[in-house]
Amino acid sequence: MKEIISSDYEKEVLAGQNVLVDFYSTECPPCEAVAPKLETLEKLFGKEIKFVKIFRQGNRDLADQLAVKSSPTLLFYQDGEEVSARLTGGVKRSEIVRELKHVLGKDRVSEIMKTQEPTISDVDVAILGAGPGGLTAGLYLCQARINTVLVDIALPGGNVSTTHMVSNYPGFIDPQPGYMLSHNMSEQTKRCGTTYKVAVDVTHVDLLKKEIVIDSQETIRAKRIIIATGTSPNRIGIPGELEFKGQGISYCATCDAKYFVDKEVVVIGGGNSAIEEADFISKFASKITIVHQFDQLQANKIAQEKVFENPKFSFLFSHEPRAFKKAGDKMVVEVEDLKTKEMKTLISDGIFVFIGQKPNLEMFGDKLKLDQWGYIQTDEDMRTNIDGVYAVGDVGSKKYRQITTAIADGTIAAISITREIG
Ligand SMILES: Cc1cc2nc3c(=O)[nH]c(=O)nc-3n(C[C@H](O)[C@H](O)[C@H](O)COP(=O)(O)OP(=O)(O)OC[C@H]3O[C@@H](n4cnc5c(N)ncnc54)[C@H](O)[C@@H]3O)c2cc1C
Repeated sequence: MKEIISSDYEKEVLAGQNVLVDFYSTECPPCEAVAPKLETLEKLFGKEIKFVKIFRQGNRDLADQLAVKSSPTLLFYQDGEEVSARLTGGVKRSEIVRELKHVLGKDRVSEIMKTQEPTISDVDVAILGAGPGGLTAGLYLCQARINTVLVDIALPGGNVSTTHMVSNYPGFIDPQPGYMLSHNMSEQTKRCGTTYKVAVDVTHVDLLKKEIVIDSQETIRAKRIIIATGTSPNRIGIPGELEFKGQGISYCATCDAKYFVDKEVVVIGGGNSAIEEADFISKFASKITIVHQFDQLQANKIAQEKVFENPKFSFLFSHEPRAFKKAGDKMVVEVEDLKTKEMKTLISDGIFVFIGQKPNLEMFGDKLKLDQWGYIQTDEDMRTNIDGVYAVGDVGSKKYRQITTAIADGTIAAISITREIG
């Protein structure tokens, strides 16, 4: 891609053509992730759209003037006018193609996309998921000189990258910001030489053939596949939930309760995990309001007795949250009384949502053997019931889901594979 500087901007970008501008930085993993996508798209669209890049730190005045605040930021121009939404962060190829439609029109973009040649590559191991489990497996395999590719639908790091602070990961005296811990894990694996395909669309996975298709055009054939796709908390799906995730709304008491010493929190949920987690939170918080959709708790009796006896707890039965908001540094949750339809506002220091977790397994069809809760069963070497397919980390059937247990699984799977094919 052609590199330009501020003084070229008028001539190269505003002079009336179709232009895609990539503001990038050095030491920027999302910039590294988007660069190969732009290169392949330039090959496809280069005759009709000019692709240019601008080093953000070296052209700060221009970046400030254009209100470009992070790297990468992709801007799209048509005849000197910026058109369509800007893309930032872990930008997917499909998102860039979507925005190009604003520049060239839907039909022309579809026409050009049809001309792209599918690619096929062969690797020893493909790892799906670059959280702690997948990154650790990638590190061990790379150090054993096994040709490995790490594929993730997001940027590397998994759940740790969105965790505020991690204080129970051995080797650090002080609590570590989750994003730094996951950044270091990822850089360690990347520096070894593992190939990364991140912020991609995983279009298709065939575990029996051991083939993964990404971005609808790139097929990866592997001798072994490691599934390390983790879990996602069940979401309530109401306004404000995504926006305030990690900034007032938490899905993990073990991780975040300690930040609420003598503070007031709202807990959404009334099943076993919600009440057990809420009991744990009560060791820190001064007041806990449980919001539950039914007229009684669903948790086991012992857990119920504990919270009913604890004066820190109050309960809003037959209530459901409808929206999360922020007021200064306080969290606001609007709840509806399901019996009277009356709306109420609860103000607290933080909100915990425990309405269950789900393993990220949608891609894998129905051939994997799962436990009764829907998590992948493995043997002690992390092998699943499908030959050559392993599962590590939170997606696997286990009692305790933590960073340390995920990296232990990743280690075991990688060593097992190395013994088999190394
Ligand atoms: C808010 C929060 C705080 C936490 N705090 C702590 C803590 O303080 N200490 C601790 O030990 N544990 C903590 N945990 C738990 C810890 O984060 C997990 O146990 C750990 O991250 C599991 O690692 P993993 O690699 O199995 O999965 P994840 O970290 O979940 O990573 C899975 C990866 O797979 C990717 N993925 C999903 N679907 C696909 C797909 N179809 N194809 C390709 N990639 C896919 C995801 O994008 C993600 O990057 C916390 C969890 C949460 C949610």
